[in-house]
Amino acid sequence: MNLSLFERCYGCQPDSQITEKARRLARLLVSDPPVYYDGLRMTLLEGVRPVTKVRTPSGEVREMLMLGSNSFLNLNFHPRVIEAERKAAERFGSGAGSPPLYAGQTILHEELESKVASFTGKEAALIFSAGYSGNIGVLSGLCRPGDVILCDSSNHASLFDGARLSGAEVIPYLHLTPKHLEKQLKRLDPARKGRLIVTDGVFSMEGSLAPVDDLVRLADKYGCLLMVDDAHGFWAVGNNGLGTASVFGVRDSVDLHYGTFSKALGSVGGFCSGEKAVIDYLRYYARSTFFSSAMPAVTVAAIIESMKVAEDEPERLANLNSNRVFFQRCLEECGFDTLGSRSPIVPILVGDDEKLGRFQMDLFDAGIYTNIGTTPAINASKCRLRLNVMATHTIDQLDGAAHAIERLGKKHEVI
Ligand code: PMP
Repeated sequence: MNLSLFERCYGCQPDSQITEKARRLARLLVSDPPVYYDGLRMTLLEGVRPVTKVRTPSGEVREMLMLGSNSFLNLNFHPRVIEAERKAAERFGSGAGSPPLYAGQTILHEELESKVASFTGKEAALIFSAGYSGNIGVLSGLCRPGDVILCDSSNHASLFDGARLSGAEVIPYLHLTPKHLEKQLKRLDPARKGRLIVTDGVFSMEGSLAPVDDLVRLADKYGCLLMVDDAHGFWAVGNNGLGTASVFGVRDSVDLHYGTFSKALGSVGGFCSGEKAVIDYLRYYARSTFFSSAMPAVTVAAIIESMKVAEDEPERLANLNSNRVFFQRCLEECGFDTLGSRSPIVPILVGDDEKLGRFQMDLFDAGIYTNIGTTPAINASKCRLRLNVMATHTIDQLDGAAHAIERLGKKHEVI
């Protein structure tokens, strides 16, 4: 009998039984399977544009206003980016085939590393084929048992996962609360010298900015290294898209900058920049680069060109900012709590999982594609709708969306 892999795993055809089968399997594997939100999974039928064609879970094909993508500058279809990819494909083919230190590092990877180093104002940079795995490699490579890593309690999962894997003691401090961080620092045994403060730059579930100036001050005062993961901030926040630390005027005082190419630039991958000695060390000791195949050169070429376009067409960032300010103002005037966002991620606090699910469902019906933030990313009592603005949205599109969100927000008693 010729069973598909799916049938061998689940003993049935792939159909609606999957959820129940997967749950049963999960019960065999873990003692206390977590409850998960089996939300509305849409499938994109084309790349991200302000209005994007999707297939809904019921199989319907629809065009929806895209407020769910991190591709803030929306460069995915830029002719220069597509052309750069085409040329790289002709020269380098489709994939890397090896980790960087074997045969995966091309001249394009080198060019990208040096562009990123100079963009972030550091001596050197290292790239990773995914933003998530880069954080795992950096933190587990830099820190070890006996060290201490102080994390904002709302940091991205990859920072917590990397921190745990390192074996260092992980001490969370209250979200956006330098006073609490200082309290934690004061408690540390002065003999413990390996200390790292790590924070998101832009917090991805609410768009708020870390108080990087305060963190720099505390890192200096208590002898810590400071790492800022500005995945959502680079190319989207600050003058020339230089990121959250630049908003506070302390870019050069951050020891390690971390970022991704997967948000504003709409591609994939992560990077870490800092002193050359540290970056060279990480090439060998960040296991997620050493033991993992390099980013394909085609992707590297697209990222390099996207960085150049972002520089050559500053009006994109200007549009992104004015779109965000307009949209956030509309929502706040309706009475929504947008949680102090200062970036293209504009949340709406809902605070009740079921209400959030119904609100999102109605927005889908109204042709508006949104995301939600809830468990495991966010405590359900603070769950929220997550709306992302792009440089390519028109004011009319955002105005129309704000009206629909107001109408449905009233219906679901969010306002
Ligand atoms: N760091 C932060 C702060 C993030 O928000 C994310 C993704 N949301 C990542 C790392 C992981 O990046 P990627 O999706 O490119 O793997």
